[in-house]
Amino acid sequence: MKRKFYGFMFYNEKLPLVFLILIIFSFRSVYSSDLQHKHSDFILCRLCGHNIAPATHVINIQSPAAEKIYNRSLFGLDNVEVQRIRNPLGIEFNIVLSTGGTCVGRRERWKSHNSWFPGYLWKPCFCSNCSQHIGWIFEPIQSAHEERAYASTKGFYALILDNIISEDYSDSLLATPKISSRDEL
Ligand SMILES: [Zn+2]
Repeated sequence: MKRKFYGFMFYNEKLPLVFLILIIFSFRSVYSSDLQHKHSDFILCRLCGHNIAPATHVINIQSPAAEKIYNRSLFGLDNVEVQRIRNPLGIEFNIVLSTGGTCVGRRERWKSHNSWFPGYLWKPCFCSNCSQHIGWIFEPIQSAHEERAYASTKGFYALILDNIISEDYSDSLLATPKISSRDEL
């Protein structure tokens, strides 16, 4: 009877630790999922073409708030996870994540409510050239200082897919030959 009792106690004490380890491992496996980098494309602001981030900085971290997650080939990468997500006002966004870039946050307090990524505070970020809203910075609580304008190495960006464009795709549009009636003469 006594051994059974100790066995029960052991189980109860270690259970939270086991869950924590499972959560960490599942997070790491998602964080380092297989993004295959074909070549170095860039992510640009769709409005002005300013460089937002190298495609090599794209990462996959799944948000528990995502309504849908689907894989797409984007920015020269296979298996980019696009997450459909909704803000408290009911506005829907399709987002991709990046570890670094030029999307700049304003000097304002970081917000904790309705964070799509638990454990991270957030604030919106904007194109540093044309001020278009590009997405949000997510930063761990410890490094979310008010004056921080860019994500630290422990933070990341959620970029709104509708507001960014691939540099390669943009170049392909510019390279399209235009034949006017004058050329045909
Ligand atoms: Zn811009």
